[in-house]
Amino acid sequence: MPRLLIFTDLDGTLLDHATYAWAAAQPALDRLRSNQVPLIFCSSKTRAEIEPLREALENRHPFIVENGGAILIPAGYFTVPLPPHRTIGGHLAIESGAPYPVLRRTLGEIAAAADVTVRGYGDLTVKDVAALTGLSIEDAARAKARDYDEPFTIEGTPADRARVLDLIEARGLRWTRGGRFHHLTGPHDKGGAVRQLSELYRQQYGRMLTAGIGDSLNDLPMLGAVDRPILVRRPDGGYDPDVALPGLEFANGIGPAGWNAAITALLQATDVKTPPP
Ligand SMILES: [Mg+2]
Repeated sequence: MPRLLIFTDLDGTLLDHATYAWAAAQPALDRLRSNQVPLIFCSSKTRAEIEPLREALENRHPFIVENGGAILIPAGYFTVPLPPHRTIGGHLAIESGAPYPVLRRTLGEIAAAADVTVRGYGDLTVKDVAALTGLSIEDAARAKARDYDEPFTIEGTPADRARVLDLIEARGLRWTRGGRFHHLTGPHDKGGAVRQLSELYRQQYGRMLTAGIGDSLNDLPMLGAVDRPILVRRPDGGYDPDVALPGLEFANGIGPAGWNAAITALLQATDVKTPPP
């Protein structure tokens, strides 16, 4: 019987798109905890944003920040050898992201070359970010503490947007889209981080059954890297049409309500009873 390992997106998936509340997912969160199933946060959010969430949700597991920019692992969590890493904020960090100053500079160059107005988080004040996201001032400041991923908006026609995105690819960088913003990253995504972390669990525990749950295009690489990919409904009740994948399961519910239904069903179907040692 393989052990279950779950990767989850946060914004619009475990957390409500507008209020960032997870109350609707609490029953399934409780079941995961009582069954000791590792729940891995895998988000475009920063370390500064995810750390307080882990505290609030009493989550003691590794987590993936800024669309796969780094995997952060609590010291002593694994006994198997880790890939090259450094220590950041008391966690062991396996980094694959491009440095944020490089992303900022490149985004500016691309906007100039495309002659399009592009606004990144680095161009915005904390107040701007709070207004655009509905985050508190304190949380918006945490969202601006970025290391590997720049969220941005493009002002212009679809052709302007396409020109900016093409230039990003021509530079060897990547773009993706979350619930609110486009994102510029180095050559990494959620999927690479999910594969790398799943492999560490396999080395430590043997066979694992992996599940992933998300709502947007930036979750597609994560969903492609797990055995059981699950998509929740967006606030308008529909599914993101850009997320297509063989074997994709469609949760019947928006954000955390869909999360609760899908994870409850997954736990029942996989008959998880045995906690890890
Ligand atoms: Mg999301």
